[in-house]
Amino acid sequence: WKSSFGGGKGRGMIKERLRRLRAFLKAQGADAVLINKEVNLHYFSGFRGDDTVLLISADKAILVTDFRYAEQARAQAPLFTLKEQTKGLWRQAVECVGEAGWKRLAFEGNALFYSDYEKLQKLLPGAALDVPVDLSPLRMIKETEEIACIKKAVEIADAAFTDILTFIRPGVSENAVAARLESTMRALGSERPAFTTIVASGKRGSLPHGVATEKLIVDGEFVTMDFGAVYQGYHSDMTRTICVGRADERQRAIYDIVLDAQRLGLAAVRPGVSGKAVDAVARQRLEAAGYGKYFGHGLGHSLGLEIHEEPRLSSASTCDSLAPNMLVTVEPGVYLPGWGGLRIEDTVLVTDTGGEPLTSSSKELIEIL
Ligand code: ZN
Ligand code: ZN
Repeated sequence: WKSSFGGGKGRGMIKERLRRLRAFLKAQGADAVLINKEVNLHYFSGFRGDDTVLLISADKAILVTDFRYAEQARAQAPLFTLKEQTKGLWRQAVECVGEAGWKRLAFEGNALFYSDYEKLQKLLPGAALDVPVDLSPLRMIKETEEIACIKKAVEIADAAFTDILTFIRPGVSENAVAARLESTMRALGSERPAFTTIVASGKRGSLPHGVATEKLIVDGEFVTMDFGAVYQGYHSDMTRTICVGRADERQRAIYDIVLDAQRLGLAAVRPGVSGKAVDAVARQRLEAAGYGKYFGHGLGHSLGLEIHEEPRLSSASTCDSLAPNMLVTVEPGVYLPGWGGLRIEDTVLVTDTGGEPLTSSSKELIEIL
């Protein structure tokens, strides 16, 4: 299913996604949907570019783009009728709506800029742009091909972690560690970092999102690295915390508690369980040890074409029931201002009977001696 553009999706897969999208549109009472979010262009058509919109109804699938992308769109989105615009994306899209005679249009409420929404409203001939939709739930359960891409992205990140252990030593900067992680992943096939790489050493470890700085790593410090790869659009996400030099008693004690919470969280992942319940299992372990208030974020999230997707594992999760072929991260941490912190994160595939951790790097406390 690869094309020369790398990533053209099989027709069968796109047909099935369109079938699910059309059932969803029918339930929403919309004649058609206008899609402009990049990851959804990719998911529903196979096209991997931007400045493009899809218009999809019960019997039509139109892709509106410009000269730069026309050839690529023909190759990657063969199920779509291509409209090459010369007078503006929105004008061309509105013309298509008029020709098709659609009256009620759905749009991505979380992706269409308000200024574009206003422009479309003005241009639309007797049609209402009045059904805001969120298409992300349609991507929650992953197909076999998607899982294969995520597994590959996870493998690339695992390999970068193995490599970084030979590189980290006192005197190396956080930035140098981040650059090495990113270049290793790139050389192994990653398109780009999955997000801004986090490298937080020593006291900076109390910043859950401490992106790498020029700070030099010092003997005796914990180093938390949170990073991921992107393979054919699909993200991976892992965190490991290691010690440069010997860990002291306190470091070791807190590490063991976080690792225990992480293992309990992993073991709680299975079909039918709620996102709140998995979060609670890990959180209770940290609370019992007196660190509950130092774990101020949710336990995990799903990923795929985006780094953060539904379902979430948190006290606010809206997911009542995990299902097979969903993916979630399990990433408890403890953050103590003035001391530092740590986090351990794996990506897990929900199977028919439980959870299959995909991340394979060791979680025993590693000391760089
Ligand atoms: Zn992460
Ligand atoms: Zn994460």
